[in-house]
Amino acid sequence: MVESQELSTGNFSDWLRDTRSALKKDAETDVPCGECNACCRSSYFIHIKPNELETLNHIPEELLFPAPGLPEGNVLMGYDEKGHCPMLREGACSIYEHRPATCRSYDCRIFPATGIQISGKDKVLINQQVQRWKFNLNEAGEINEQKAVKQAASFLTQKRKLLPPEEIPGNPTQLAIMAIKVYKLFNETKTETVNDTELVEAVIEAGKNFDTRS
Ligand code: SF4
Ligand code: SF4
Repeated sequence: MVESQELSTGNFSDWLRDTRSALKKDAETDVPCGECNACCRSSYFIHIKPNELETLNHIPEELLFPAPGLPEGNVLMGYDEKGHCPMLREGACSIYEHRPATCRSYDCRIFPATGIQISGKDKVLINQQVQRWKFNLNEAGEINEQKAVKQAASFLTQKRKLLPPEEIPGNPTQLAIMAIKVYKLFNETKTETVNDTELVEAVIEAGKNFDTRS
């Protein structure tokens, strides 16, 4: 069920630090979802990697198909005619203890954090939940941090065609994650003093550094 009252996400800086740390470690996020299961009912294809054996053992093979463009063994799980994940039973994940890493790392707060909109009839439930989250922005530093995250998201949205094809975010979630990874560039650089090509190169470099540095 998606309700309408506001939900506090706490301080923006704390959330950003924890999210970046989880992204670096490929770790689980700690979203206070409560009764919400909107992302399990929003027509998402769930990516499962070949090494997620515990998860794969709990999903019927017929629900999985090869993930386009990824190495052999990577699979996707689709959704039913209502847009629901087939593992959602009676409103709850039937394989919760064994759910895919994609589900463990999903955090819908990345959308209000980055200002990225998700659209489409199949994303109405998530949008309702997204609109409930409210970040605390207490200090100038925190306000500037979110401004930089939003600038990164806006730049990546507007200049996506300048990115090499393999770096172009495939969906709003990937776009938001990329903005969170490279936002510091927009905090530290006077972006008006560099041209778009230089900034794209810097973004790619910052993304690679984020992924390789512990
Ligand atoms: S939409 Fe957000 S709050 Fe709802 S279940 Fe998914 S991650 Fe949790
Ligand atoms: S596997 Fe579970 S957590 Fe993941 S989308 Fe399906 S029902 Fe939701």
